Amino acid sequence: MKRVLGKLMGISVIVGSATSALGFDPGNARSMSAGRAEAPDGAVGAAPARSEIPERYRWNLGEIFADDAAFEAAFQKTEGLINKFAALKGTMGRSAETLLAVLEMRDQLSAELDRVVLYSGLSYHQDMSVNPAQGRWDRSQSLGTKAAEAMSWFVPELLTMAPESVHGWMEKNDMLAVYRHFVDDVQRQRDHYLSPREEELLAMAGEIASAPENIYGRFTNTNMDFPTIEDETGAKVKLSAAKYSTFIYSKDRRVRRDAFLGIHQSYMDMANTLSAMLSAHVKQHIFYAKARGFRTAREAALDGPNIPVAVYDNLVATVNKHVDKLHRYVELRRKLMGLDEIHQYDLYVPMVAVEEEKIEYDDAVSTILKALAPLGSDYTGTLRRSFESRWIDVYETANKRSGAYCWGAYLTHPYLLLNYNRTMNDRSTVAHEMGHAMHSWYTVKSQPFVYGDYATFCAEVASTVNEVVLANYLLAHANDDTERLLILQQQLEGIRTTVFRQTMFAEYEQRIHELAEAGSPLTGEVLCKEYAELVAKYYGPGTTADACGAAEGLRIPHFYRNFYVYAYATSHCSATNIGRRIIAGEPGAVDGLMKFLAAGSSKYPLDVLKLAGVDMTTPKPIEDTMQLFAELLDRFEELYAKTIKPKAAA
Ligand SMILES: [Zn+2]
Repeated sequence: MKRVLGKLMGISVIVGSATSALGFDPGNARSMSAGRAEAPDGAVGAAPARSEIPERYRWNLGEIFADDAAFEAAFQKTEGLINKFAALKGTMGRSAETLLAVLEMRDQLSAELDRVVLYSGLSYHQDMSVNPAQGRWDRSQSLGTKAAEAMSWFVPELLTMAPESVHGWMEKNDMLAVYRHFVDDVQRQRDHYLSPREEELLAMAGEIASAPENIYGRFTNTNMDFPTIEDETGAKVKLSAAKYSTFIYSKDRRVRRDAFLGIHQSYMDMANTLSAMLSAHVKQHIFYAKARGFRTAREAALDGPNIPVAVYDNLVATVNKHVDKLHRYVELRRKLMGLDEIHQYDLYVPMVAVEEEKIEYDDAVSTILKALAPLGSDYTGTLRRSFESRWIDVYETANKRSGAYCWGAYLTHPYLLLNYNRTMNDRSTVAHEMGHAMHSWYTVKSQPFVYGDYATFCAEVASTVNEVVLANYLLAHANDDTERLLILQQQLEGIRTTVFRQTMFAEYEQRIHELAEAGSPLTGEVLCKEYAELVAKYYGPGTTADACGAAEGLRIPHFYRNFYVYAYATSHCSATNIGRRIIAGEPGAVDGLMKFLAAGSSKYPLDVLKLAGVDMTTPKPIEDTMQLFAELLDRFEELYAKTIKPKAAA
């Protein structure tokens, strides 16, 4: 229950639900090649203005609010609801009717606030240089904190009520009975709630608590100064996050090396400042965990969605058991690329050195629609409608936020931010983000507001199922073995970056929290040392480390979430399992997925996943994915020898 977790952690309640639970992918686990396509002279030009992009490729924020005046009106309405809600304090326990009134008012306020935050966030992200938009975004965040303060009495007051009497009221009142799982979930967390005054204090600290993340975001997006390097044609290009995510895939080793070293040396140079931000963020987690009587920050984060720590440990232990498969992959990569030494910056470039065909966005869309046909006509019909209705901001424009995400609110359809650059990876990203959008859409359509979001633990499943089903279609429809190799390579990379790499991130996150909990200062030196050790363990003895590569642990934005990355890995394993059963035409597999999509947060995350036939308390889905990785490696190696080797020898 994301909303309850937000409340528990004292972070702005609704902002939490809007930004995480509805599939908002902050940062670059799904990074796209966000740089613009090369200009004809080979130089990379500045990003175009929004007005240069045809309207149908720009999202339509007018569907949320017709104009800024409508936004202001909604903002004021939300402020009014905050005051109304505050006035309900002390009334909850009087009768079934007053309890219901409080619950419904809470929903109404949260729904309005979500929409305000969504609009201000999207309009800020489309042009992060515009001051009025930034001002609206700041005000919305403050409004979220104000709402959290005004609602801080809600849970403690609910906890003063005996569960039996609440259940008694629910027996007689159908509208109240809707809230049964929600109320039971709050009662489950009873031991970690504090006195009303203490709850109020924690809520008041919300804005300060989110400061490290905000400072990191501003600093890295606008104040970090990166060096200028030469691209493949010798043209001088100033590095940026977006340019880096293009150059790291460069087939010209000098370019990807200069980009990797340039970016990470800049982070390394700022290690003092950046480690202070990350350290403060980690301490914030520990503060809330301690305040609520949890043993560790990790236990606190996982208790919100009711995930046993054993699920996390199971992931890390199972992946560690198979880390030799990643070593095999890295060694294969080194061999096929003809390198003496393999570095971190050699891990992204395609092993199959063929010129990838550029995929126009409209072609990507039509392929995705055909590929996802096994998910049924209802699913693809909704998908088609969303592609045609300006839910998506497709291309990079000046000062637009990098990366890709899906973000929605209960009162409006979800929106997708992309920086589409015509690669195969970009096409998969469209399918991925659309998975989030469909998950949000079916959840909102099927659930009352109180269950109209979904837990982080489930958030990456629908998106990855889309990718798995898309890859299967592309393999079946490939023109030749070379294209097949490209698709196999993409699947291998999917597991490397989402299962192995995110598990490595999860281990890093766990280790730095444990260090801080043991009283060790998280200096730049400590953070880099920890990160370097994990890189060595995961990529194996064959990988040559560059000193500044350890600064990646200071760069990745996901470390500013709260034990979020492990869910990428568990989700990928769940989705692989679901996707393969759908592809095999297993009876009930599509039905199970549709039930999962529609369930929202009406059950605990592990139970929601069981609707789709997956049990993440067992090593099975992870073992299966590791097995698949080994099979893909075999297939890739065999096909490569048959297709590429003889040509190279000739
Ligand atoms: Zn995602």
